[in-house]
Amino acid sequence: MIQLYIPLNFLGVIYREIKQSLADMERLFGLLDQHREVADAPTAQPLQVHGAEVRFSKVNFSYEAKRQILFDVDFAIPAGTTTAVVGHSGSGKSTLSRLLFRFYDVNDGGISIDGQDLRSVTQASLRKAIGIVPQDTVLFNDTIEYNIAYGRPGATREQIVAVAKAAYIHDFIESLPDGYATMVGERGLKLSGGEKQRVAIARTLLKDPAILIFDEATSALDSRSEQAIQAQLKEIARNRTTLVIAHRLSTIADAAQILVLDHGRIIERGTHAELLGRDGAYAQMWARQQARRDEGSGSPGSADAA
Ligand code: ADP
Ligand code: MG
Repeated sequence: MIQLYIPLNFLGVIYREIKQSLADMERLFGLLDQHREVADAPTAQPLQVHGAEVRFSKVNFSYEAKRQILFDVDFAIPAGTTTAVVGHSGSGKSTLSRLLFRFYDVNDGGISIDGQDLRSVTQASLRKAIGIVPQDTVLFNDTIEYNIAYGRPGATREQIVAVAKAAYIHDFIESLPDGYATMVGERGLKLSGGEKQRVAIARTLLKDPAILIFDEATSALDSRSEQAIQAQLKEIARNRTTLVIAHRLSTIADAAQILVLDHGRIIERGTHAELLGRDGAYAQMWARQQARRDEGSGSPGSADAA
């Protein structure tokens, strides 16, 4: 029995890993209802990451045949730099991150990392290279330690504590009766939006990916938490290729490049100063958000760039 038990248990662990990882990814992207398979090409090779330059080349995309979402989207994120995407709700911002993670294939054009088309590399290697801090972090019904270690299976306790400290969640965890063994998730301790996001940041730090995607959360956080988290995100993003989907323009004013997306098209691009100088859509969005802030009603989530 013993001999049988060990391998079965081992398989169980692997099975749980795979199942949870799929569930996590689907939840991350809200794909539980609509699922379209993307398969590895028979000739797929592992992605070779050098500086991790990301390039969208004339991308057209639609989820459903009748409704095109992205039109001729063309931009590059130079290796190790940050590009922010702003635009009204529904303009296609999160779709860009889903495509970069290859949850869907583009209809026309292509997306590449360091010159390798996403369709030519294995999905496992692609997803290993990309870390996502999503809008709304989903925690597993497991310990807080498991939820952080998920970023890198096999991580040691020392590594987990180090990233928890870096994400400013260690002291909170230590204050819980069961510490790192505390059960969280739907059936365990409910964490606040800010705490969950810190767990996601710790998980991402442990994963140490070359490419980062932040879908900025605003709705769940008060503005003091948001500022603290913004500072952390900037720290993680340093020297990594980063795509930030921004709601509050003040958080991305120092991005190397800002893209303004409108109904699936890039209508403006440049630095914050360049875009203000153009006095176009970005300058208008900026003026509106500043005015709202000065009125003192700048509640998170009320920005119309959301
Ligand atoms: P944003 O992040 O800018 O708010 P999204 O990229 O999430 O916008 O969505 C862009 C458009 O694509 C929206 O009109 C949305 O309704 C549509 N959309 C998003 N996901 C799906 C999907 N799975 N199936 C069909 N349409 C979708
Ligand atoms: Mg979105």
